[in-house]
Amino acid sequence: MSAFGKLDFFPGIAVPPPQFLSLKGTGQQMGERILTDTNYDPGFGGSDGVAIVSGGMDSVTMTHLLFSQGKRPHMLSFDYGQRHKKELDSALWTAEQLGLRWSLIDLSSLTDLIATSALTSKDNKLEIGGLVTGSSIDVPEGHYSADNMAITVVPNRNMMMLSIAGAVAVSNKYDYLAAGMHAGDHAQYPDCREDFVDAFIEALVLGNEGFIKYPFGVLTPFIDASKNDIADFAYRLGVPLDKTWSCYKGGVIHCGRCGTCVERLEAIDSVDAPDGWDRTQYADKAYWREAVAQYKDGQ
Ligand SMILES: [Zn+2]
Repeated sequence: MSAFGKLDFFPGIAVPPPQFLSLKGTGQQMGERILTDTNYDPGFGGSDGVAIVSGGMDSVTMTHLLFSQGKRPHMLSFDYGQRHKKELDSALWTAEQLGLRWSLIDLSSLTDLIATSALTSKDNKLEIGGLVTGSSIDVPEGHYSADNMAITVVPNRNMMMLSIAGAVAVSNKYDYLAAGMHAGDHAQYPDCREDFVDAFIEALVLGNEGFIKYPFGVLTPFIDASKNDIADFAYRLGVPLDKTWSCYKGGVIHCGRCGTCVERLEAIDSVDAPDGWDRTQYADKAYWREAVAQYKDGQ
């Protein structure tokens, strides 16, 4: 293998015991600061790579995993016109806690062009003279793997994010680019599959010949991991899951009923850990069992 290698799941990694990371944040509650904050730099530099961090459980756990290995990723989050910004705020919160640089990339002008997904569709119903025009796509409830979750696909999302992260990595002469896609995403999201990552690496190398600083790694530590595995990592790394945001709806707390809430609760329940280790609040904490049972019955 060349100096440019994809490091799958950090072979031989020893996961550290539960720990309290050194927290540098202000302790400020998550709010809507994201609308004004687009860059956070703790000022002491030292970023050694770039990581795509949405602010959800997977990417935040990946950030803690990298941090536990002594890496100091520059976190990149993307505003692609998702209906709510809570996950972005969660990413910023993580950056503050770990003392990592964070940047928000604004792709929101794409929203109107790719509004076929439930995650980007705007609620644009207009009532004119008693007639309702326009449309909105509802976020589906139920099991994550069910067919109706196809509506949550944002076309070419990972290609866009990886491409921009690649530019940031090459430009800053970083050592790696990290992304948190996992095996559980493979069925619904084709751009989370290993074949796609391999093709991206090839394109990145070809398109930046002479500009990449080697050795360089594209790290996809969870590409063969399940959501349950990631929840296990989160527990063992002491990730404050209540400061991550997964819900596809943008309520005050997680809904507990949308596909990603169901998947998250199922994964958290699978971890061999004391009850209550996840302090996230859910509007409906019981529905996931029903959704999983219904899905399994239909198999
Ligand atoms: Zn939800």
